Amino acid sequence: MTKILSIGTQKNMMLTSEYAVVEVSVNDLDFVFDCEYAAVFIFTTSESTFLSWLSKVRSNSINFHSLIYTENSDFSDLAMVDGLIPNNIDDKINYYLLRKEELNLNTNDNLENKLLSYLWMSKERSLRPSRIINKGVNYKYPFIELWDQGEGKDLWLNRMVKAGHLAQEKLIDRIRQCGSCQSSLLNYVDCCSDCGSIDLKIERALHCFACGHVGDQNEFIRSGGMVCPNCLNTLRHIGTDYDRPIENQRCNNCNNIFIDAKVSVHCFTCGQKNDIDDLVQKEYFSFTLAHNGIIKIKTGNEPQLLVTSVGELVTREHFSWMTNWLNKMAVRKNEHHLFVGLKFVNLLELTKAMSTVALTGQLEAFNERLRKLLRTTDIFCQYSDDTLFFLLSGVSEQSIKIIQEKIGTISKEQQGNPLELIASLHLLPESTLSNNVEFWLAERAQKMGN
Ligand SMILES: [Zn+2]
Ligand SMILES: [Zn+2]
Ligand SMILES: [Zn+2]
Repeated sequence: MTKILSIGTQKNMMLTSEYAVVEVSVNDLDFVFDCEYAAVFIFTTSESTFLSWLSKVRSNSINFHSLIYTENSDFSDLAMVDGLIPNNIDDKINYYLLRKEELNLNTNDNLENKLLSYLWMSKERSLRPSRIINKGVNYKYPFIELWDQGEGKDLWLNRMVKAGHLAQEKLIDRIRQCGSCQSSLLNYVDCCSDCGSIDLKIERALHCFACGHVGDQNEFIRSGGMVCPNCLNTLRHIGTDYDRPIENQRCNNCNNIFIDAKVSVHCFTCGQKNDIDDLVQKEYFSFTLAHNGIIKIKTGNEPQLLVTSVGELVTREHFSWMTNWLNKMAVRKNEHHLFVGLKFVNLLELTKAMSTVALTGQLEAFNERLRKLLRTTDIFCQYSDDTLFFLLSGVSEQSIKIIQEKIGTISKEQQGNPLELIASLHLLPESTLSNNVEFWLAERAQKMGN
């Protein structure tokens, strides 16, 4: 039976009409979760109490993906909170339960599965960083920190994006850190570009129109008025008698004069003096689920839906290198090779909407037909979530027609089915390719999208 947990006192609020509410005192932090709660409401005005409960729920192995709501707008934007208590709470819970049914991951075994499941349970969720004030401002992803205290989270997140499990959603912030100790407690100081001294003074110079003399403004002050020290003209009106040229800076240590000072960045933590270029720049994003992550959630397997049974896959880098090389060989040896792009137009929608078993069946049937077409010498790569690129080398002109027809047939056989396929064939050599193969491939993918 679906339950929801209400922590602390709520004032006359009808939380749900459908589900059983379990109430617990906000001070009962020793509370032991005996079952899964679809939603948890935390009623408190104390930030520390709220954060304790938030961590307690998110680090609990059966409740880490529960919906968490607050009535306090100070806490509703925190990284692991689902927001203010919505009006349609039962709808949210129903959606949660629906998602739960589709969840096919063992969430006990690792961080990756936990994170994917957490993101899956609510449409609005993303993995968000929180600002941490420690050795300056820094960002951490609280959800990840709860489950893994190790280092190298940035790399791990990068890998998750590369694998297509997560997608960058929004750039939250960019920070700079000391090149020596990674602290971001930094002081940006103007200094002399010659001797490095920070003892600078600003000199305001005046420019006499009558004789063109430029000098420190103090030199112009004579018995209450302003007189040019060079031509002795009295300067009355700015704009007609004189003006102020750009302000200069003078180094009190070496007397060097300059307009723009050099900026040196002193680390308060370790004392290192960094040049701006020596600073380590870091960007923090929020992340949402990507295509492969959704497949993994629904199947429990690493997603290689498209290609598992077709043959051996090469990386995009290798594929573009091969394309370029074959293109050159085609010119030199007067041969023909065939580039084939296949785009599964509605794959992403299908992974969301269709039963996994049925979709896997569809793709397997497709792979079967494709296998018949390919030889072991043909190479292919997964260019994007829903696009495969192939290179069929040493194709005779007669066989091109056959291949074209066969691919046409494969496409047509797919037509009545929910899986929509677009094919694009290009005979190599292709003169526009040699300038920039990456661009050429991107263009092929782009054209299939339209
Ligand atoms: Zn430092
Ligand atoms: Zn100096
Ligand atoms: Zn003058």
